[in-house]
Amino acid sequence: MDFLTGLFPPGKRGSRDTVLAVENRLVPLEFIRNSRARHYILRLTPEGVARITIPWGGSKTQAHAFAQTKTDWIARQLERTAKRRQVSEWKPGSKILYRGEWVPIAVKIEHGRQVVEYGDQSFVLERNESHLKVAIEKRLRGQAEAEIPPLVFAAARLHEVTITQVQIRNQRSRWGSCSSRGTISLNWRLIQIPESVRDYLIIHELMHVREMNHSPRYWSHVANACPEYQKAEQWLNRHSELLR
Ligand SMILES: [Zn+2]
Repeated sequence: MDFLTGLFPPGKRGSRDTVLAVENRLVPLEFIRNSRARHYILRLTPEGVARITIPWGGSKTQAHAFAQTKTDWIARQLERTAKRRQVSEWKPGSKILYRGEWVPIAVKIEHGRQVVEYGDQSFVLERNESHLKVAIEKRLRGQAEAEIPPLVFAAARLHEVTITQVQIRNQRSRWGSCSSRGTISLNWRLIQIPESVRDYLIIHELMHVREMNHSPRYWSHVANACPEYQKAEQWLNRHSELLR
């Protein structure tokens, strides 16, 4: 493989000076020395670079040999990344998560207009809407804005929690938050998950009005209001890819 040395410019975080043959493709390797590491660690970056941490006393030769024993794992990771890319481009026939179920997207032509359908919903695609994912996400967010705030206010009344405002937001990395002033913010993606999990997340934020932490006392409030909350937490853990 030495003849490929120098093909890849050195990265910011490590030196990228060789490649690994994985099935029928070449994967760039990057080495990082970390004297605190106890063993070799292999990671695949989102850009498809295999990054190997070399522990104290280790060498690039050994790191390369280590990576060679892990080509099956790298191949599986590359496949997963490719699949995730496909999922992120929505097209007719793609399945999206809607109310806890994977439903297909259909696009039909009716009276010369494009009609998009998913689950129990359908809408006419505007002429300036060329991106299917953007168009559907806009509708999902609209559904969340119409449906979720009334649910939160009703739950707040039921559990005697005082809140001032409910916001539906496009958070990338969290399902919701609660401010000390009683504003509950929830992710529009709550429209995508099972209703029982959505209801748990509403309770989760409401109970933060009482306890702004995750102490045992906080969790006992959650358990009282939502006895099945652990099942909902398990579902969220299994679907962590919904939030990046
Ligand atoms: Zn919390």
